[in-house]
Amino acid sequence: MKPIANLSQIDIDPSVPCFVPLGGSGEIGMNFNLYGYQGQWLVVDMGITFADDTTPPGIDVICPDISCLRSVKDQVAGIVITHAHEDHVGAIHYLWRQIQKPVYCTAFTASVARRKLGEAGLLDQVPLAEVLPGSTQAIGPFELEWVTLTHSVPEANALLLTLGSVRIFHTGDWKLDPHPLEGAHYDDRRLMELGELGIDYLVGDSTNATVDGWSGSEAECHSALLRVIAEQKHRVAVTCFSSNTARLSAIGDIAHETGRRISVLGRSLYNYLQTAKATGYLKNFPDLVPTEDLDYLPRSEQLILATGSQGEPRAAMAKLAKGEHPDLLLEPEDTVVFSSKVIPGNEKKLYRLYDLLAQKRIHVVTEQDAPIHVSGHPCRDELRWMYRALRPTHIIPVHGEARHMIAHAELAESLGLGATQVTNGDVLSLSVQAPKQVGRVQTGRLGLSGSSLVPLSDRALSERRALADGGLITVTLVLDKKCRLVSEPQMQCVGVPTGEVELDSVTADLALAIEDILSEQSSRVLQSDELLREALQREFGHMLRQWLGIKPRQLIQLVRI
Ligand SMILES: [Zn+2]
Ligand SMILES: [Zn+2]
Repeated sequence: MKPIANLSQIDIDPSVPCFVPLGGSGEIGMNFNLYGYQGQWLVVDMGITFADDTTPPGIDVICPDISCLRSVKDQVAGIVITHAHEDHVGAIHYLWRQIQKPVYCTAFTASVARRKLGEAGLLDQVPLAEVLPGSTQAIGPFELEWVTLTHSVPEANALLLTLGSVRIFHTGDWKLDPHPLEGAHYDDRRLMELGELGIDYLVGDSTNATVDGWSGSEAECHSALLRVIAEQKHRVAVTCFSSNTARLSAIGDIAHETGRRISVLGRSLYNYLQTAKATGYLKNFPDLVPTEDLDYLPRSEQLILATGSQGEPRAAMAKLAKGEHPDLLLEPEDTVVFSSKVIPGNEKKLYRLYDLLAQKRIHVVTEQDAPIHVSGHPCRDELRWMYRALRPTHIIPVHGEARHMIAHAELAESLGLGATQVTNGDVLSLSVQAPKQVGRVQTGRLGLSGSSLVPLSDRALSERRALADGGLITVTLVLDKKCRLVSEPQMQCVGVPTGEVELDSVTADLALAIEDILSEQSSRVLQSDELLREALQREFGHMLRQWLGIKPRQLIQLVRI
């Protein structure tokens, strides 16, 4: 089905609910979903994703392209954020201006959203309403219930949408953690009740649909971390995801249990600790030791909490591994604990950190060595439990790459449930009978370049990549009125290794070649800078390949006198 630029051009029956994923279906991150009903739209989540090896240089943050919403902006009833992870709330300050409608979320998420909106100078403009977990509300024609689930951040909410006679359960991110350490437990009684009521569609988290068993509990993780840290005789530095309040709580308790004091390195950890305390979490977390006072404590009493569990080069853990942190130098026999998983794509960065630490005789403990991390997403047995409780008629897998979503659909079918695959941009009508694709809208990825969002396919970004791959050679030609070279061409290289070749030594060859090219061109080409540049570029490319074995980006400047 051919994608259409405007959602308003798709023929949608307003009396039947519809679902449109614009980000997060077929990829990890960048979740952005839309529900439509009675001519209005509800946005669910506004997430970002982070750059990987395939992203043009200089782009760190990526947002979904939601330009198809422009034509229905006035029909958006509101924006709902399920929880406080970057892949769900991280784009709020980048994308809100395109929609400009009220935002609804629970207190912890609201606190994270406010910080982002404040940094973007939007705090006064965005109507942000805090809702209570478990509460119900109507946003335009959307009847909504916030259903509490567990995850790796407090207040992970599923949404029960009642749209006429159709009930949709949008899971958000979830797991079944019987001992979540911080925050509410999932409400299994309510889930059973919803199963009795009858769920038509479940739109759900596919992240771990390829993983057997259960994801495990934060309480088990606490025990394993305690064992690891209690064994250490010297300083211990732990890194984990800053938003994982349960893990921070466990580390706070472990400090107490092992007679250590905590010092924090990294802004995002400070921010999340503050957010958690301000919203009623981490009540027993110990007072922090300022990093400048660490020298007064024996190494055996120090527990450092550091950002950078994915090897981010600007975060505290990378600086510690390189010995470049201004406030702390790790020493031989210290231990670094990575209480996190390796997100695919970050392997190289992390292995490099492990090596740097090992070279300094610092012990490294990862989840390969001890069960010191649990995932926040449902594995196959948790999916089975949920689907037996809710008994949805139909599953729509989202939040995953293709293999996760396919495994999710197959698991649903093995339980006798219907399953429909979607990908970003699909417009799906959700009648009581069966889902049906009624159209497709254009989607895509926008990279944050400075303060602008630019399509990753933008020519400037592909040029940036070409420059990063091969460097740049500029050639300046001064031509007289008859298009003859007035002086020798001037060549300059930026980021082009020339090896044995002295550029000066090839300038004479270049001048001859250029004169040849000029003599072969028609007067139409000679009079047009654009056509002449094209002709020169073709030939110049061949010559560069002969001289250097590579073809860097070329910039030919013509000066006519
Ligand atoms: Zn999440
Ligand atoms: Zn997520």
